[in-house]
Amino acid sequence: MTIPEQNSVDIAIIGAGLTGLLTAHGLKKHGFHVTVYEQETSLTQRRRDWTIALHWALPIFKKLLPPSVVDNLPQAICNPYLDFNPDVECLPCMNANTGEMLFKSPMPGSRRVSRQRIRQLMTEGVDIRWGKRVSAIRSDNDTVQVEFDDGETVRADYVLGTDGAGSKVRDILYRNDEKARAVPSGYYFATAITRHNNAERVEPVHSLHPVTMVFMGTDSVGAIGTMYVDDPEDKSTWTTFWVKIWRKGLASFPDPPSSTRSGQEALAYLKKTTKNGLAPFQNQIDWAPEDGSTVAFIDEMKTWTPFLPFDTHEGRVTLAGDAAHPMLVYRGQGFQHAIVDASNYVDALLKIQAGGDREEIFNAYNAEMVERGAKAVEQSLKEAELSFDPESILKMTMVRRGHGKLE
Ligand SMILES: Cc1cc2nc3c(=O)[nH]c(=O)nc-3n(C[C@H](O)[C@H](O)[C@H](O)COP(=O)(O)OP(=O)(O)OC[C@H]3O[C@@H](n4cnc5c(N)ncnc54)[C@H](O)[C@@H]3O)c2cc1C
Repeated sequence: MTIPEQNSVDIAIIGAGLTGLLTAHGLKKHGFHVTVYEQETSLTQRRRDWTIALHWALPIFKKLLPPSVVDNLPQAICNPYLDFNPDVECLPCMNANTGEMLFKSPMPGSRRVSRQRIRQLMTEGVDIRWGKRVSAIRSDNDTVQVEFDDGETVRADYVLGTDGAGSKVRDILYRNDEKARAVPSGYYFATAITRHNNAERVEPVHSLHPVTMVFMGTDSVGAIGTMYVDDPEDKSTWTTFWVKIWRKGLASFPDPPSSTRSGQEALAYLKKTTKNGLAPFQNQIDWAPEDGSTVAFIDEMKTWTPFLPFDTHEGRVTLAGDAAHPMLVYRGQGFQHAIVDASNYVDALLKIQAGGDREEIFNAYNAEMVERGAKAVEQSLKEAELSFDPESILKMTMVRRGHGKLE
């Protein structure tokens, strides 16, 4: 149950992505006064969606949310109508040359959700100020002042930067040090979402695996799966997705110019550079309509390995989620770590409320977050390195140790 606001501690969260919204709920449950500031002007400003597997951190995720949001989680699950069993709760991977099964990574209890839909659910009851882009943070003995692009300044007792991979808050805390900037990883990532309005084009995706199937063994990694299900009995109402990852600089995939990284141009580029793949994957690309209904994006993924120290404004300002440790998508760890950050952040404020020393408690939060985050970022890069060669795939952590939490 969410406790009505009972104390005068003001927390400003910068960024209404999943990390910011989750932390807001966790804090509100304990009666803290939270305001989230988001640069986007509305929930629907960005058209891009992608799927996220909630797995080892799902129990912590649910604990942070109010029951009303937890009860509605099925609305965000890509296909909530499945009979969830070990065959469904896993990530299988096929050899992209032969169609043989390479490995199946068990993900017990996992649910794959739409990022857009779960974000929408998590806005419930959160005070979000849209169209507020943070530009500066200052502090004095008592409070922190957050300045926005539009000239407004607000005061808070604590500020949490959950403003994603290109975090401005991180820049500020590291005093604009070059070393605080996320760097291009050398790996491109494409996502595409299609409503085929044709059950025969959806059936092969579903029958291969009802959640997601991955393909490896060539110079790119691919995946296909179910994105949204309107009528579970009628696959012509379902939407599918595919993703593709490749290394920058390959002759077979010339770097896409920045002008072709979204929309029709992105799809045209992907169709042109994806040929002769295994039928279930190749068909999804060939069948994606070029009438503007396929939502396609291409990005060079960025990463950053966190390090200490940074200016915490005497324990009042810190980071969580992708702002703290932007990593590659391999093994689906990014949001799992963000969930742990959110939970630890709430615990830190509760300890301070109970009389603990602010700087000491946040030094401990930062040290743990940096150590855990740095390991996860580095591990995601190693995983990518191994993913394009049939020999090295078997050395990948997801093959040897699955998708679970690494100690
Ligand atoms: C294709 C894909 C698949 C993934 N799959 C998985 C998976 O299976 N499992 C998993 O655990 N993770 C997965 N991830 C990672 C996961 O999506 C991210 O870790 C998570 O969404 C990060 O959320 P965030 O809130 O920290 O950052 P973001 O979602 O980037 O949110 C940051 C917010 O801050 C706002 N903002 C930015 N700058 C400012 C500013 N100056 N002022 C105010 N607001 C600002 C942005 O507009 C945005 O709304 C995947 C990622 C991708 C791209």
